[in-house]
Amino acid sequence: MAQVFCIANQKGGVGKTTTTVNLAAALALRDRRVLLVDLDPQGNGTMGCGIDKREIECSVYQLLLGLKSFDDVVRRSETGGFDVLPANRELSGAEIELISIRERDQRLKKTLGPVMDRYDYILIDCPPSLSMLTLNALCFANGVIVPMQCEYFALEGLTDLVASIRRVHNEKNPGLRIISILRVMFDPRITLQQQVSEQLKKHFGDKVFNTIIPRNVRLAEAPSYGKPGVVYDRSSRGAMAYKAFADEIISRMEAKKKNG
Ligand code: ADP
Ligand code: MG
Repeated sequence: MAQVFCIANQKGGVGKTTTTVNLAAALALRDRRVLLVDLDPQGNGTMGCGIDKREIECSVYQLLLGLKSFDDVVRRSETGGFDVLPANRELSGAEIELISIRERDQRLKKTLGPVMDRYDYILIDCPPSLSMLTLNALCFANGVIVPMQCEYFALEGLTDLVASIRRVHNEKNPGLRIISILRVMFDPRITLQQQVSEQLKKHFGDKVFNTIIPRNVRLAEAPSYGKPGVVYDRSSRGAMAYKAFADEIISRMEAKKKNG
């Protein structure tokens, strides 16, 4: 059965998509079967996997609304080595159209439940809001990965996200257990970033991943080649960091399995 993680933070531009795409590719390099779900109407994750969002016939939108089946919508990222449920602008309409649907926050869980045994990991790239789409991701996930820049305002907004996650855990999805912070776009030369990074670790303990993702231009370039950074330049510092992150995820998950 797949472990389901959503990559969420209601701020934009904090590294959600970069983290989702690179973690997917790094897990695939470790021979794990991965499905990436693009839940952001911007479709950046889709493009970053080498799938042209303007040319897709079916997107995750039709899946959520029950208009198409999983097999109609799923695509293969040839550059990443994993499966993708792609998205494009069309998905922005889902927010409104879901209103009239029963159990509208359970749509993702309903549609992906039957394919859980095809994958080891399902990674969901969330939009930058606590919207119905994000709620669908939270209702389905086992864990949330929150990418965070080590800046002064980093913790702002985290309280809202944590409150939403608690509410979903209590009312909708008791299986939503793990919430962990990933420090991204880190620049060790900036003293403030070092301080915030240490504070995060002190305050949240093992809820902060050990791996730190550095600011690295190769990660930013990769999407314009339709490739995950870990594939585009596999020996870059950014690629190495995401590979280490995948190993940390795998060892945390497998330790958990062993301990029950
Ligand atoms: P989000 O999905 O949260 O909006 P993105 O993953 O799209 O954020 O990242 C925002 C921008 O920052 C993108 O241009 C991306 O290429 C760049 N970026 C993300 N992570 C890094 C990194 N570690 N180093 C350098 N640039 C990064
Ligand atoms: Mg994004």
